[in-house]
Amino acid sequence: MIPNKRIKSTAPPPDLEREDLEADRDQDKRRKIPTRIPEGAVVITKSRDDRNTLGTPNRKSNEYRPYQTSIGNNRALANLLGAIWRVEAGRFNEGSSTHPTVRIVSPYTALFPPAQRQTNPHWGTRDTPPPEIHMPAIPCTTGNLPNLVFDEATIYGAVDSKVAAGIRGKAEELTAVIPFGAGNKLFDTQPGLVNGIKDFLEALVERNGEGVKLEVQRAAREGRAPHTATFAKPFTIIVAGVPHRIRTFLLQRQTFAFRSQGTPYAFFVADPDQPTKPWIIYTFKGDYIVESGERMKEALTSICRTIEGLPAARNFVNKTLMERRMGNTAEERMQMILSTMSLVYTERRREDGRQTPLWQLHGMPISPNIDTQREWLKLVRRIRFYLNDYTAMEPERIPFGCVWCKSLTHDGNACPLPDHRDWKGPVPDDKHYAPEIVDTIPTNKEGRRRGKGKGKGKGRRHTQE
Ligand SMILES: [Zn+2]
Repeated sequence: MIPNKRIKSTAPPPDLEREDLEADRDQDKRRKIPTRIPEGAVVITKSRDDRNTLGTPNRKSNEYRPYQTSIGNNRALANLLGAIWRVEAGRFNEGSSTHPTVRIVSPYTALFPPAQRQTNPHWGTRDTPPPEIHMPAIPCTTGNLPNLVFDEATIYGAVDSKVAAGIRGKAEELTAVIPFGAGNKLFDTQPGLVNGIKDFLEALVERNGEGVKLEVQRAAREGRAPHTATFAKPFTIIVAGVPHRIRTFLLQRQTFAFRSQGTPYAFFVADPDQPTKPWIIYTFKGDYIVESGERMKEALTSICRTIEGLPAARNFVNKTLMERRMGNTAEERMQMILSTMSLVYTERRREDGRQTPLWQLHGMPISPNIDTQREWLKLVRRIRFYLNDYTAMEPERIPFGCVWCKSLTHDGNACPLPDHRDWKGPVPDDKHYAPEIVDTIPTNKEGRRRGKGKGKGKGRRHTQE
């Protein structure tokens, strides 16, 4: 199995006849699933020089090429040629903090259509404002700030279901604002919060020559606020009337921190129309979790081999990507999904001060459809992964994330935003650094809407924001 050849075969020119495509597929069906080579082995590709080293003859490009490579029954060589991914160690920086990371490197990333090709949205930074946008004369944080992912639950999780439906109905015209640290208490302790944000946005709009009034208000919340939860639920503020150019800028820049009349403010901007899908697939806890790149390589290799060898996973990936018209064979589709995977190390400090670090498995969402993605996550989260012959990897079920910025990749204790060299927003104390366990009985409606059936009627449940 030769990686380059596969890639070539999957990108037929648009004018290729249907019969040719079908013939191609038939041929694909006969292909064997390539097996892997040990970590660190060299991947041999199809370049003319490489083929010479394998002892195969050079051919002119227009010569007939049988599908079967000339390696015949040489099993070892076939295995070597079948190597299509390797694991590479690196780090991902989130402001001042850094996460040791290992990721899959595979040529199959290239098979995603350019429009569907994404990079991990949890990584990277937001740049300073472009020159054509003028910031208002309010002291405001500049410099690169970490990317944050605001998914559906962050935006709509605490919003009354009727109001949420109303927002979705005209989401293209609206902008969602999530205050830093948003939760119950925030609006009690900072009564001027909504107006402070409104003033900033209006000053920004005016400074850029668009004299419009904005409509800024808190979205009504679902049910009663649980009193024990200070930060458990984000509380979305909805802004209407932002000129398109400014809205685009707000979404690009995402994080705003400023100081107005002595009061610090910080908020995040999200698109209520197309919230970003988090890439987090699985969270692992346990004694075996260390910062070591070698150990993490071992883990990611084992995870990916397990997923790719599991018929249920293969079928699901094949069906989903086939519907999305991606890839030509089941093997290709599985390889495409695996090519986006990475394992991230993240620190966690529990309430009692104990350090219990985690590994997060990240990967591109398999579908933009929420239900399909949920089904995929359910499928993967049911798999038991093994680090090696004697260690099973344990899933972490307790919600993990930052109560301040709602990021899912660090805990509140390690929020990089207040450590930013030019941070002008509020600086939190360290009393609340873990998502809270909410002492509340969820209504059936809420349980259903959030897609979580468990916990109903038990009077005690976790929330995940
Ligand atoms: Zn944070």
